[in-house]
Amino acid sequence: MVSFSERLQKLPPYLFVELDRMKAEVQAKGVDVIDLGVGDPDLPTPSHIVEAAVEAVKKPENHHYPSSVGMLAFRQAAASWLERRFGVKVDPTKEIVTLIGSKEGIAHFPLAFVNPGDVVLVPTPAYPVYHIGTLFAGGETYYLPLLPENNFLPNLESIPQEILSRAKILWLNYPNNPTAAVADKDFFAKVVDFAKKHDLIVAHDAAYTELYFDDFRPPSILEVEGAREVAIEFHSLSKTYCMTGWRIAFAVGNETIVSGLTKVKNNVDSGVFQAVQEAGIAALSGDQKCVEEFRQIFKERRDVVVEGLKKLGFEVDPPKATFYVWARVPEGYSSASFAAKLLKEAGIVVTPGNGFGEPGEGFFRIALTVDKNRLKEALERIASLKF
Ligand SMILES: *Cc1c(COP(=O)(O)O)cnc(C)c1O
Repeated sequence: MVSFSERLQKLPPYLFVELDRMKAEVQAKGVDVIDLGVGDPDLPTPSHIVEAAVEAVKKPENHHYPSSVGMLAFRQAAASWLERRFGVKVDPTKEIVTLIGSKEGIAHFPLAFVNPGDVVLVPTPAYPVYHIGTLFAGGETYYLPLLPENNFLPNLESIPQEILSRAKILWLNYPNNPTAAVADKDFFAKVVDFAKKHDLIVAHDAAYTELYFDDFRPPSILEVEGAREVAIEFHSLSKTYCMTGWRIAFAVGNETIVSGLTKVKNNVDSGVFQAVQEAGIAALSGDQKCVEEFRQIFKERRDVVVEGLKKLGFEVDPPKATFYVWARVPEGYSSASFAAKLLKEAGIVVTPGNGFGEPGEGFFRIALTVDKNRLKEALERIASLKF
């Protein structure tokens, strides 16, 4: 008899099973479903990036095993981008590792630093990979609730001493998925002080730093003094350049912390196809006008959704960053019952907030990954419902 390992058996139940089943059922009836569930941008990768890859694919030197740390030219492009964007100077030979998408790096990271019984501090609601990477490394997750009364920032002072003494890693993610909350440099400075005091590694998932709106510019934690002693930051080209399918990202920060992740990767993968890395170089080093255009598109969509929802009486703040809108479900509904109603009665998929963790109960997430007219249609459908 084949039996799964304990680590697989311990995987959390997939909370969207019921929603997926309902979606299939509604679609089978011929309903034109508007899917606002998936965080995968609908826009194509800019053509100068695609062209760079096409040329790179033709070069025989790219047909061999890449190095798992990544091409030096890619790491240099990443370092120059960090300096231009955040004023942060790093050594690309020691402080950057290339990733097969940041999900890969996030999932593997705890293997480098977590022993069985060690604690990893993980925000909730959150991207599920922080917990799953911990589980796979044999660590124990201690959840830090992200609550509206704290602007969806974790309350570090609430962590018991007994937990802190066993904790190795503190995960953060700002701009945040799913709450769309942002953090400023003062918060990161507090985090760095806290991490030094309690001997923690800060692992910051920075996948959404370029999807900002209005006057807000999301900072890098590496801008904060002392961060280079305790922090690693995960940057992804997926959301910034609409490159989710390409699988390219990088982690940057403290040399020893980066080297731990590199060591794991040396032993489990052989790096990113160099043609994809060349596309990444074109993205990071090329004209950033495409990113400005993406921001403009997502901002228009955000405004349609936030204004539309407000008119219908929903409680929602316009996000300063990310392509998500995080809103409260109406009185009398749970996250699940509201999502089910939207799907069955309006043919709209939204993500129930509790699917990202229990404190997300009472919220739903809309991904702004369909065009403005579809979003307007979704709002018209919602307006026709009775709550
Ligand atoms: C999309 C996303 C990522 C990026 O994943 P890739 O593997 O780089 O495509 C990382 N973290 C969060 C929170 C995300 O939403």
